[in-house]
Amino acid sequence: MSLLDYAMKLIGGASTTTVTCPHCGLKSSHPTSKIRLKQAMLCPGCKALFVAPR
Ligand SMILES: [Zn+2]
Repeated sequence: MSLLDYAMKLIGGASTTTVTCPHCGLKSSHPTSKIRLKQAMLCPGCKALFVAPR
């Protein structure tokens, strides 16, 4: 685990939520802190960057 991952876990409280990719429809879990801050998430299926609608 990298230091950045560790820091993100601390900040995000390690809580994740399932987000559906708007491009391929694949569901993947992402930290809720990223969604709250409207940061781009990488789809593990099609490698597309997208921002969760909410
Ligand atoms: Zn996708």
